Amino acid sequence: MKLATITNWAYGTTVVLTVISGTTMLMASNALDRERAAEAQRYRLDKATYNLEHDAFALTGQARQYVITEDPTHLAVYRRTAADLKDVEDRLREVDDAGAGPDELNSLKEALRWVDSLHVQQLAALTAQQSGDTARARQIMFGAEYERELNRVESMIERFQYRLDERTGAEVEEAAAIARAWKTISEIVLGITGLLFLCVLYFIFKRRVLRPVVRLSDVVKRLAKQDYTVEAPTTDQIDEIGDMAEAIELYRENAIERQRLEVERDAERLTRDLLSRMTQRMQGCDSLSDLEGVIQRFVPEIIPGLAGRLYLLDGSRNAMVEACSWLSPEYSRSEFSSLSCWGLRRGLPHRPGGKKFDVPCEHLDLGDAPMVDTICLPLTVQQETLGLLYFEPVSLGETIADVPDIRLRMLSENIGLALANMRLRDALREMAMADPLTGLANRRRLDAVLKHELAEAERLNEPISCLMIDVDHFKQFNDRFGHDAGDSVLREVGSTLRDLTRDDKAAFRYGGEEFVLLLPGIGPDAALARADKIRERISDLRIQYGNEALGPITVSIGVASLPEHCGAEDLVKMADSALRHAKSSGRNRVEPAAPRMNAA
Ligand code: GH3
Ligand code: MG
Ligand code: MG
Repeated sequence: MKLATITNWAYGTTVVLTVISGTTMLMASNALDRERAAEAQRYRLDKATYNLEHDAFALTGQARQYVITEDPTHLAVYRRTAADLKDVEDRLREVDDAGAGPDELNSLKEALRWVDSLHVQQLAALTAQQSGDTARARQIMFGAEYERELNRVESMIERFQYRLDERTGAEVEEAAAIARAWKTISEIVLGITGLLFLCVLYFIFKRRVLRPVVRLSDVVKRLAKQDYTVEAPTTDQIDEIGDMAEAIELYRENAIERQRLEVERDAERLTRDLLSRMTQRMQGCDSLSDLEGVIQRFVPEIIPGLAGRLYLLDGSRNAMVEACSWLSPEYSRSEFSSLSCWGLRRGLPHRPGGKKFDVPCEHLDLGDAPMVDTICLPLTVQQETLGLLYFEPVSLGETIADVPDIRLRMLSENIGLALANMRLRDALREMAMADPLTGLANRRRLDAVLKHELAEAERLNEPISCLMIDVDHFKQFNDRFGHDAGDSVLREVGSTLRDLTRDDKAAFRYGGEEFVLLLPGIGPDAALARADKIRERISDLRIQYGNEALGPITVSIGVASLPEHCGAEDLVKMADSALRHAKSSGRNRVEPAAPRMNAA
């Protein structure tokens, strides 16, 4: 039952009980009135009979006094008293008005008759006394007859009073009992009303004040401790407590919203921090594999809960090739044509399985799986596509929680820029390490490669040989045919050296018309044989410059090998010195370096 219904019932009952209590109090008051009226009636009747008796005896006394003393004063008093007496009818009416019953009235009437009879005798005695017949007067007044009648009057009055007492006593008793009963009932009803009122008051206080206030105070305490899971009590009370509950609920909702915003802001700040750290780390990367390592480590933190893969464009095949992945993506192939991705085709992020209906990319192998929520983010810098970032849910059937577009955009832009920087840096480095005329690596590259190869040879305990090659009388080509002709000779020699060494890092233009070949893992004999083969191949070259044939072209080659000829630091120097030896020995020949002194 609702609280309002209960309190309404309680109010109603209290009102009814109050009315009942008022009524019983009125009844009790009426009963008391009746009791008082009965008492008053008895008093009035008592008084009337008392007067009657008193008058009878007073007249008798005065008459007897007069008869004995013959004092006229007594006669005068007698006459005045007798004159004052009302007649029988008046007295009876008076008594009747006072509420006497017919039975009582009959007794009284009889008493009055006897009083009248006494009065007649008194008058007779007074008349006899006045006429001097004292004896007769005394005989009348003091005779046995008079005394009997006087006694009869007395007994009649006593009988009247007895009946009166009998009746009025019962009436008073009854009225008193009724008054007592009503009083008791009214007290009980009043008590019940009071008790019910107190109960209602307590109930209302407890249910509508105490309990809500305790609950609200508990809620406020938990809210103060930032426990926003607490449910604010809902109440339809239209009072201060209802207002308080409403205000607390409003505060709780605001606090939850504020907390949500704070969490969002913190998450956003964390993401930005991660993004900025990733960007910094990417800027510090020296190689693509470093870059891939950074991406592989940071992206799952920035876009949590999603598996993904970084693809890089292989321009020669127009294909996207996997560079790295995280959390084991399943659906996208590790290599695919750029045309099979809608994101790459449009140059925009593509999410086919999201809230918006769209076509899935062809590089997804969905098999029997239903549509998978995937994201393809093209990595584009200045309208040039460098790669693709791909995401899918970690578990089958899950959808990707809303990732803010701005985060995806910042991620793809940062990674795209880092890739572009890396490419640019690689290109610059390549340019710095390459000789533009012959396309071979230059001397700077030789220094770096040599260091590495020497360390490798030492680590693997393998030989390594170095060939220093110099075009014989090269200056003459310049002098006879011009500088451009000399350049074409250098280009041809460079191209021949590249053809003879399959490894890109093996042939270098050392400077001018001098070239170096590094032969890791090859000892002095094989190196000499290789050098001779090179010398022969170059001497076979026939170069046409315009209408003129340039030739013949010969080279002298000095060969030095580790560990036979020198220490690691002297390998190039020893090859150069062997070259000088070949020059001085007549050119177009191969000379090995002098054996090491200690080795010898
Ligand atoms: P040798 O047989 O003793 O080596 O005589 P050589 O003429 O080959 O050597 P020399 O050191 O006397 O001359 C080298 C010339 O190569 C001098 C220089 O002008 C020329 N030269 C150096 N670099 C280039 C280049 O890049 N292009 C052209 N066309 N000539 C170059
Ligand atoms: Mg030279
Ligand atoms: Mg030369």
